[in-house]
Amino acid sequence: MAARTADIAILGGGLAGGLIAMALARWRKDLSVLLVDEADRFGGNHLWPFLGSDVSEAGRALLTPLVVSGWRGYDVRFPDLSRDFPTAVYAVTSDRLDAVLRRALPPSAIMTGARALACSAQAATLVDGTRIEACAVIDARGLRNTTALSGGWQRYLGRRLKLERPHGLVRPILHDGSVDQVNGLRFVTCLPTAADEVHVEDICYGQSPTVAGATLAARIDDYVRAQGWLVREVLGEEHGVRPVVADGEFDTFWRANGGETARAGMRGGLFHPLTGSTLAEAVRYALAVTRQVPADVANLDGAALARFSQTWAQRYWQRGKFARRLAAMIFAAPGPDRQTRVFEAFYRLDNGLIERMHAGRSTAADLARLFAGRHPLPLGRALGVLTGLGQTGEAGPQPIHGAGHGAGPAA
Ligand SMILES: Cc1cc2nc3c(=O)[nH]c(=O)nc-3n(C[C@H](O)[C@H](O)[C@H](O)COP(=O)(O)OP(=O)(O)OC[C@H]3O[C@@H](n4cnc5c(N)ncnc54)[C@H](O)[C@@H]3O)c2cc1C
Repeated sequence: MAARTADIAILGGGLAGGLIAMALARWRKDLSVLLVDEADRFGGNHLWPFLGSDVSEAGRALLTPLVVSGWRGYDVRFPDLSRDFPTAVYAVTSDRLDAVLRRALPPSAIMTGARALACSAQAATLVDGTRIEACAVIDARGLRNTTALSGGWQRYLGRRLKLERPHGLVRPILHDGSVDQVNGLRFVTCLPTAADEVHVEDICYGQSPTVAGATLAARIDDYVRAQGWLVREVLGEEHGVRPVVADGEFDTFWRANGGETARAGMRGGLFHPLTGSTLAEAVRYALAVTRQVPADVANLDGAALARFSQTWAQRYWQRGKFARRLAAMIFAAPGPDRQTRVFEAFYRLDNGLIERMHAGRSTAADLARLFAGRHPLPLGRALGVLTGLGQTGEAGPQPIHGAGHGAGPAA
């Protein structure tokens, strides 16, 4: 049986695994790293926008080589609110992540087209029988099991469009909730990546992880027509689902998503409960891992790194309370029109609170502010959500079934 060795083996070269590999290549050149992915390229097929306020200065330094676009602010639109925010927005892409990783890592550190079957804190086995031995293994293979969580799903279709003429957008519309609310809460995101190119994403919330792909595509077509844009070419497309978490049991989630191995990204529960984003926390965690690895690699212990990752994830779960309450408010609101008003009320709040929510860093005072503000929930339901004692209505959070991978728009 073939064997490979490394100081740190990372299973899954998506956003989280890729960022850890980049951080180690940059700040811990003394370590040998092995980045393993079942696909032929790293990062999948995504465009990841993020707010400048999501990351620290060190985080920005890590992300800079990945940034393909940046804007000085963004807009949101709702039936009764149009607001522009001064917070910068940036976007990174999986193409760039793949290219940067291949430049940053020596060829001996890269294993693509290699599916991991099983892993422990210090070893992994690939489907072809190859055994990997390492001082520490990090499992970053994406979300596996959501049964300990309740809430729903966001279903996505994103298209990168080349237009016949300039679109006229100077900055992103991060949340256009002024669109028709059909079959569940829905909004559109537009990222103007060039004068005549725009990435348009249609996002809808619901209890099932599947939605007809043709439905989302038709909605994008309608949206584009309504803006007066003429499409010359569809340059690319991404689709998929992300969980929206209103409640859950952290310990059960942790047990259901792996054994005694250090974890990262979705696999480690490091995704935003409401937006499903992982980028901000993936950056923080990648930086923390570089600091956590002892100066003398002989002291690197996979079991200790696994315990560190569990504690990290537990704290992240505790910090997610605000976003889970906001998700619960959305599911508690009667019908999609009222649900979109929950977002509208949220985007009326002060920008600091909004930035903290996106970054996954909300405070207890933020939570109090959310419920004290103008919001569209009847008092009984609002109290039920605030106290976590129910009263969430028929559309309240349901157990989330159907794990992230493989779920998505039905053709
Ligand atoms: C359409 C869509 C849009 C999104 N937009 C955003 C966004 O704007 N911002 C944001 O932060 N998040 C976004 N997300 C969520 C996105 O999934 C996560 O941000 C991010 O990709 C998760 O990072 P990850 O590294 O945990 O998982 P992934 O990026 O999914 O990486 C997991 C990696 O593991 C590999 N893998 C899986 N199984 C194995 C195996 N057995 N052996 C070896 N390799 C394996 C996969 O090939 C993959 O490369 C979006 C998701 C979708 C579906």
